[in-house]
Amino acid sequence: MTHTSRPAVGFIGLGIMGRPMAGHILKGGHPLTVYNRTRSKTAELQALGAAVADSPAGVAARSEILIIMVSDTQDVEQVVAGPQGVLEGIRPGSVVVDMSTIAPGTERALDEALRARGAFLIDAPVSGGDVGARDASLAIMAGGDRKAFELVRPVLALLGRTITYCGPSGSGQLAKLCNQILVSVTLLGVSEALVFARKCGLDPSVMIEAVSGGAAQSWQLTNLGPRIIKRDFAPGFMVDLVQKDLRLVLESCASADVSLPATGLVHQLFGSARAHGSGREGTPSLAKVLERLSGLE
Ligand code: NAP
Repeated sequence: MTHTSRPAVGFIGLGIMGRPMAGHILKGGHPLTVYNRTRSKTAELQALGAAVADSPAGVAARSEILIIMVSDTQDVEQVVAGPQGVLEGIRPGSVVVDMSTIAPGTERALDEALRARGAFLIDAPVSGGDVGARDASLAIMAGGDRKAFELVRPVLALLGRTITYCGPSGSGQLAKLCNQILVSVTLLGVSEALVFARKCGLDPSVMIEAVSGGAAQSWQLTNLGPRIIKRDFAPGFMVDLVQKDLRLVLESCASADVSLPATGLVHQLFGSARAHGSGREGTPSLAKVLERLSGLE
């Protein structure tokens, strides 16, 4: 398994995350072919020099490294194994890198299907949000064949600052689910502190400034706390997507007899956010659920 010095890269899924990530690959000097279900989202990258394919199979046929960044487990299954999918176009020696957050078991099954065609799947979900995608500062957590991972590492380095090989297929997704437990439960703490400050008469901005240099500092507090204060609930990372991730955590809990009470609670509270019409807002809208519980507007 060897690749050319600037391997041809394919990119499937040009959403909030995928569009800036594909741009970094183009800037890195790789020939790039893109596919997006809604074709209009390819125009910007096409203007910058990317080729546009009509199907995932069409991207796979032109790519040594193929990145996928779509929404959920069934979407990756459809893109890889569905009609006109990646499996129909993939060439032996190619490496598919799925950077979506999906079920670890599905990554293992798709890796096997690709290996049957002489290719590999690396699961490489990310953390760092829309800001990390734009700044190429994502944390990338990878699982799968080690040699295939080393082949794609230089391309991943165009997208992120921390790249960690976590183990065999599915391990990247397991690390990402741990990440989602951490960020969601932390955001609940941030939301509670903000409600407490407001109700008890402390300026929330002063509270963030006062505690951010101490033991309570976190990405959620310094990045999302100010958005909550400004009432900026634009995504970012959508409530619908975090609910998908927490669902994946809770499904894994059920099959492995793990009990995570705080994760279960925050999943219920995000459910309330959806019930109040915030599904397509950013995760800071969790704060609105806590505000309602305490009678704040
Ligand atoms: P998004 O803006 O909703 O984009 C989703 C992309 O997937 C779109 O290009 C969409 O195509 C495509 N897609 C969805 N289902 C598809 C299907 N069945 N077939 C083909 N294409 C399909 O989502 P995002 O925020 O970029 O998130 C993408 C992934 O990254 C998710 O797994 C998410 O959990 C993860 N993630 C997101 C963030 C964040 O802050 N946003 C952070 C870390 C990880 P259309 O344009 O046609 O809809």
